[in-house]
Amino acid sequence: MSKKLIYADHAATTPLSATALAAMMPFLREEFGNPSSLHSWSKKPREAVDEARAAIARCIGAEPEEIYFTSGGTESDNWVIKSSTGGLMVSSYEHHAVLNAAANVATEGRQVCYCKPKMEGSVWPDKITAAWQDGIKLVTVMAANNEIGSRNVIGDLARHAHAKGALFHTDAVQAVGHVPIDVKQDEIDFLSASAHKFNGPRGVGFLYMRKGLSLHPLMNGGQQESGLRAGTENVAAIVGMSAALTDNCDNIEQNTAHLDRLKEQLLEGIASLSKDVYFPGSKFDYQLPGFVCASFPGRSAEAIVQILDLKGVAISAGAACDSKNTQISHVLKAIHLPRNFAEGTVRVTFGVENTEDDVKGVVDAFKVALRKV
Ligand code: PLP
Repeated sequence: MSKKLIYADHAATTPLSATALAAMMPFLREEFGNPSSLHSWSKKPREAVDEARAAIARCIGAEPEEIYFTSGGTESDNWVIKSSTGGLMVSSYEHHAVLNAAANVATEGRQVCYCKPKMEGSVWPDKITAAWQDGIKLVTVMAANNEIGSRNVIGDLARHAHAKGALFHTDAVQAVGHVPIDVKQDEIDFLSASAHKFNGPRGVGFLYMRKGLSLHPLMNGGQQESGLRAGTENVAAIVGMSAALTDNCDNIEQNTAHLDRLKEQLLEGIASLSKDVYFPGSKFDYQLPGFVCASFPGRSAEAIVQILDLKGVAISAGAACDSKNTQISHVLKAIHLPRNFAEGTVRVTFGVENTEDDVKGVVDAFKVALRKV
């Protein structure tokens, strides 16, 4: 009998849900019309795009006209950063989609400064104040970190940025569909999201932009997305994203309860295998559901990941390795994790389809790995 493969790397990407696939199918085949055409083939695709926009808006407390479809998180982040004007503050533990876009605008002479997370893995308003410079017009801090799963109180950060005269953008790629988000309540100006992180298809995402704000188009061309993001809509992907997000948001409480049970079970399992372990990003109980980041000091994360892979379990390492150097990730550096802990840091991220048996399989694989490395 072939062994069951266990996928526990949902922060990297998630499988497409059956609901999303079913919603997409008609638009991949019979309803292939271009939503911008004048003839009747455009009707269903156009209506589907409009419905998807409204459904996605509902999931985050926005208005439909505040949602702009993009190719994913990277594009949404780049759009906000490259098309806004004035000084920019970004947190130092953002995803590279934000950090490299910020570095790019800095080379063109734009003012860019960095605020820092605290050691427990969150950015607080006082960190914005500490790094503040005159001229900052946009602050960008992620809603949840992709390596350690720690969340930020984005409403407090947005209000703090506003009090200082700046707009607020959040990369919510890891948070949307997993924790409740209300852009109005949290006074968010811009928010980036990506469908493949919440059981939607790859290569599609959206940018929320508060009504009354504007950005230069990142892409020039036709009049799609109010003339701000040109290009024929990927109707099937947009519909799949909407179906996946609606499904996740409708079930967010049950999903969270399930994922937190799996997380608890894994934490107990790891604790039974090793006392010498630290869990970055887990303080304050304010971490993403089903997310475990574990540091085993003095061990090699890469070796752990490889042994788990041989056992049929997919997880991630927190340090990117090549044959000569272990490069510590900028996130682990930003939270001042000592090098020997960082080198042994792995990430296990469960999804709704994982079961308690999967967790047992992960713990058994860890047992083998921790004996060997
Ligand atoms: N931002 C964060 C926090 C992410 O985790 C990712 C993907 O890993 C991205 C942005 C990039 O998103 P996409 O893969 O949709 O371009």
